[in-house]
Amino acid sequence: MAADGALIDPQARVVDYLRVSVTDRCNYRCTYCVPAEGADRRGRDELLAFEEIAALVRVFAGLGVRRVRLTGGEPTVRPGLPALVGLLRAIPGLDEIALSTNGHLLDRWAAPLRVAGVDRLNVSLDSLDPRTFRALTRGGDLARVLAGLEAAAEAGFRAIKINTVAIKGVNDGEVAALCGFAWARGFVPRFIEEMPMAAGRTYHAGSCLSAAEIRAAVAALDPSGQVVEDDGGAARGGGPARYFRLTGTGPARRFGIISPMTEHFCASCNRLRLSATGALHACLGHDDAVDLRAPLRTGDPAAVRAAIRQALAGKRPGHTFDLIGIGGPRKAMVQIGG
Ligand code: SAM
Repeated sequence: MAADGALIDPQARVVDYLRVSVTDRCNYRCTYCVPAEGADRRGRDELLAFEEIAALVRVFAGLGVRRVRLTGGEPTVRPGLPALVGLLRAIPGLDEIALSTNGHLLDRWAAPLRVAGVDRLNVSLDSLDPRTFRALTRGGDLARVLAGLEAAAEAGFRAIKINTVAIKGVNDGEVAALCGFAWARGFVPRFIEEMPMAAGRTYHAGSCLSAAEIRAAVAALDPSGQVVEDDGGAARGGGPARYFRLTGTGPARRFGIISPMTEHFCASCNRLRLSATGALHACLGHDDAVDLRAPLRTGDPAAVRAAIRQALAGKRPGHTFDLIGIGGPRKAMVQIGG
């Protein structure tokens, strides 16, 4: 049941989940995310201050948003991130704060972020092979991410998920290894179908590993087991992942799939995205956005609420990722927060 004044879009979907990009900067340059020539970056003075982000989240919480995910860019490159988490923690009605990171700085930040109040963590990990990892991230250091994951495991998050963008001919042969790695450490592996962002400039055409192919790759791990639907347990957050389990003896072999391309989930979309500069995007797959920074800076919460409702009213029934380069999104995830 939606609360009074809740955020309900023209398709009657209830929005209770907000992704907040805290920076458009990233210390990695993943080939599927950042165009080779780089992405436009906004000046530091254009970024929302932590107090401004918290003020906006407070308005969203008053409209029924219960979960927030901090993302980017790479959120851990923004100095003092735990202070933002502390501000968000104090907002009444917010049940959960999650964070998405590439893990490069996690050995330093896992414990302070957990202490500040981050409940759950998603760590991107596209390969366990240092060379593939370096190539895909354009310079990333696998050893640092693994050290970061160790620190995260010790910090006591409610759930740690490993996110892998699955690309044929690049890392599709690693589905088994990534599952084994995650399961051995109590993490939940998740595989994401590659989306054609940035007008298709980052897309490995024809290389999207589909949800069905991902399930088959996991099933091949154990011919006596079966892939069955699963509720996700503690791994289930506010996002669009579907969860599965490979049956058999021993610890639960749970995994998740985020399938925007072959089994899209637009009908159950429950989220909005706030960019680091205060632009509110109703859909990752469309470029239009409504500015919240200007109304926020007038100091009038009613104007902010009106702008949020304007964005919600424009929320489309679905994305247009099938229109690669001829109508799909021109923005990159690094710019608005994936
Ligand atoms: N830097 C953080 C991280 O690595 O998780 C947060 C931002 S990143 C944009 C969020 C997630 O989006 C990552 O898991 C990343 O792999 C994924 N992503 C980026 N571009 C994508 C694309 N074109 N298709 C599918 N997933 C993508």
